Amino acid sequence: MSYVDDVIKLVEEKNPAQPEFLQAVREVLESLRVVIEENEEKYRKDALLERLTMPEKIHMFRVPWVDDKGQVHVNQGYRVQFNSAIGPYKGGLRLHPSVNIGIIKFLGFEQIFKNSLTGLPIGGGKGGSDFDPKGKSDREIMAFCQSFMTELCKYIGADTDVPAGDIGTGAREIGYMYGQYKRITGLYEGVLTGKGLSYGGSLARTEATGYGLLYLTDEMLKMNGIELAGKTVAVSGSGNVAIYATEKAQQLGAKVVTVSDSTGWIYDPDGIDVALLKEVKEVKRARLTEYKAARPGAEYHEGKGVWSVKVDIALPCATQNELGLEDAKQLVSNGVIAVAEGANMPTTMEATEYLQANGVLFAPGKAANAGGVATSALEMSQNSERLSWTFEEVDAKLKNIMVNICHNMADAAKRYGKEGNYVVGANIAGFEKVVDAMTAQGIV
Ligand code: GLU
Repeated sequence: MSYVDDVIKLVEEKNPAQPEFLQAVREVLESLRVVIEENEEKYRKDALLERLTMPEKIHMFRVPWVDDKGQVHVNQGYRVQFNSAIGPYKGGLRLHPSVNIGIIKFLGFEQIFKNSLTGLPIGGGKGGSDFDPKGKSDREIMAFCQSFMTELCKYIGADTDVPAGDIGTGAREIGYMYGQYKRITGLYEGVLTGKGLSYGGSLARTEATGYGLLYLTDEMLKMNGIELAGKTVAVSGSGNVAIYATEKAQQLGAKVVTVSDSTGWIYDPDGIDVALLKEVKEVKRARLTEYKAARPGAEYHEGKGVWSVKVDIALPCATQNELGLEDAKQLVSNGVIAVAEGANMPTTMEATEYLQANGVLFAPGKAANAGGVATSALEMSQNSERLSWTFEEVDAKLKNIMVNICHNMADAAKRYGKEGNYVVGANIAGFEKVVDAMTAQGIV
């Protein structure tokens, strides 16, 4: 058996109940086959893939907290420090009831390659908890965040591991966590990113993942001789990534007609009203039914359905495996031109293959949504030099990074005879730098 097959089998045997992690490992290793086969003997001898697929460290801890009625709750906290070959561990904290060790490992594994693709010195990590922020009071959120950080602070630091936001962790949660870190350690340092502007945050970090997604999508379309302006776009989700993807898409002249949340979705034929969406989701933290109530021309549908709308471009910005084979078939039959992933691994493997086989331009999340973590790295730079850059400076750097990622993934695919396969290209481009650094640093 080939080295890739051996390692996939080993990872399957060792992690039987972690389907998302296995999916991420299979997807990456399958697409790296061409590169690995060229160096099979050396990589096998160095156990390179065994090391790459095993986190350097995993921290799991208890997070007890008290609700407004005095009831004690206990959640599981995680920090997976996956790979520090090219820099301190970097990656978000997901707070969602679906979180388990397999989910955090999949996200941490993806983060290694994504962070490498940004060209910035950041390793891969991820963390979070199965805590559900939905319906909790501000005080309950603070209680959870303080308890979570009381343990997490032992494992992180501005030069070792720098967490950030992800699903369920936004500006409010980062604020509470930062306060607790500072209180316990006495350090005023850039240990978290996505901070508020008054205490070391970076301008444009809030917008960065969504804006970056559109910068990359725009560049990918341009490389293929297609204009973004005038196109109709389906966005899923209505969190930070979806909101700012919608905003930038509209700024670039496209029309976004859908968004969704965990209970339903909106079809707005006039184009999503971003100001209203922000009011509903960022200020009121309410359901999309509130959007519909304020916008009579829009339709609200229960359940799932954004991929049934006829669009030119689909931007899955909600969560993993939200776009399956049937959705891909529907998009293709509706004439979709491009799919770019704002979320992490939102498209299943079968759906990705179907889209690619039908000539749809497909930008994988680890390239397309790298703008968030890239801007986090820019926040780290600003914290280190104790300066803040202007919005325009950060935004220009972000755009430049996304354009470079786009060309790097396209070039890497071409080098290995897989022109236009950006999944393969992104994995190879991300992998090359990590392997180089791992090899240089010896067997660690
Ligand atoms: N959670 C985001 C991601 O998936 C951002 C991570 C960060 O800024 O460190 O890349």
